[in-house]
Amino acid sequence: PEWASYNIGIFVCTRCAGIHRSMGAHISKVKHLKLDRWEDSQVNRIREVGNIAARLHYEERVPPCYRRPNPDAPQVLVEQWIRAKYEREEFCHPERQNHYVSGFMEGFLMKRGKEDSRYHPRKFVLCEAEDTLKYHVKENKEPKAVLRISELNVAFAPPKTCNQNSLQISFMKDGTTRHIYVYHEDPEVITNWYLAIRCAKLHRLQVAYPGATEAELLSQLTRDFPREGFLWKTGPRYTDAYKKRWFTLDGRKLMYHDDPMDAHPKGEIFLGHSSDGFAVKPGVPPGARDQGFSFTLETPDRTYLLSAQSDDDRSQWMNVIQKVIDKPLTPQDAT
Ligand SMILES: [Zn+2]
Repeated sequence: PEWASYNIGIFVCTRCAGIHRSMGAHISKVKHLKLDRWEDSQVNRIREVGNIAARLHYEERVPPCYRRPNPDAPQVLVEQWIRAKYEREEFCHPERQNHYVSGFMEGFLMKRGKEDSRYHPRKFVLCEAEDTLKYHVKENKEPKAVLRISELNVAFAPPKTCNQNSLQISFMKDGTTRHIYVYHEDPEVITNWYLAIRCAKLHRLQVAYPGATEAELLSQLTRDFPREGFLWKTGPRYTDAYKKRWFTLDGRKLMYHDDPMDAHPKGEIFLGHSSDGFAVKPGVPPGARDQGFSFTLETPDRTYLLSAQSDDDRSQWMNVIQKVIDKPLTPQDAT
């Protein structure tokens, strides 16, 4: 690391140093290890505390549902983790976690309209005991929609939303996937909603699978998308023209949409295991039109001819799809 916080007594990386500085010097006093002047007392403070002891103190009671950010986590999650830790000291004082661990949360979020694609304030109510996340158009009227928490997925700030404080919530409705998009101006609030959904999911899974380890359950709470982007695909016949579609890989489901923010995918492709006739190959079959950077996705039902935007784009898509079809099916994958 190149930086240190001399009041907390820890070394930090460049990215975290910026976040520490933004909290203000009353929380964290940051200096560069080489470019700043250090007083003996400041050096001693770091010697006395150090990262290991600081972690034991500031992370003493992190709730299991909390998503500890790894280096490629969305920026807001990294920022809120650091603020929760040092500014709000949520993991030293568990009662400060009540917003998101209590199993109930309500408040307004801006929700993207399905028809007009503008954002409108909607009242959301999360209730773990009922396994529901509801939202209301008019506060005192019936909810517009009732989602099962155990059946929905929430992805944090997918880049296509161009909003760091956003969530994409996806769930099944009438046999097809439905996406809704919400955001809140306050990064702490949107993070708390995300954590509240994760906590409610974890608690329900713990009841449903008492024998499962916490690590197994934690891996099932929420999924960011391994890859999203435009690809061109043909229709069912090889001679059909290539059309531009927005593809989203979500677990074993490869969805394609007309527009990145569509409420419903145009199609959903289940990706099974390679031993059941699923394969991804570069190029197109003989006789089919090749639009460049093409690859073929074979499933038992249909062969999809796809065309990427570049060589690199194609190999990234092929890699993420290959990873999925190499993975054995689990009982939860059954469709
Ligand atoms: Zn860092």
